Amino acid sequence: MEHRRLPEITYQLHLRITRPLTVVVGRLGEVDLPAGEYLYTGSAKKHMDARIARHLRRDKLLRWHIDYLTSHPDVEVVGVKRSVIPECALNQAVAGEVVVPGFGSSDCRHHCGAHLKRIG
Ligand SMILES: [Zn+2]
Repeated sequence: MEHRRLPEITYQLHLRITRPLTVVVGRLGEVDLPAGEYLYTGSAKKHMDARIARHLRRDKLLRWHIDYLTSHPDVEVVGVKRSVIPECALNQAVAGEVVVPGFGSSDCRHHCGAHLKRIG
């Protein structure tokens, strides 16, 4: 019997915000983020390596909400995990607090509130 691995289609970025920030995040406008640890959940059905490499680069065109954080000098990406679990299920399994409603969840249809959560 052939055993195929499920494809990794989602990822989580563990972010560390080293001081309280006020950042303009595209159309969300100005948002306040307390210092702390955050998890951002995203999906990349193709080109996962390139997507993650992009998140780890500070210098880039600001396209997604998360870009406004990953390009910021006071935000560090301290970990990256990949998963086979669909984006919203993965995000909803994170025990954390939505600080910025709508962040990263413009096309979310599962009522996540945001795809960025502040964690313990
Ligand atoms: Zn969602």
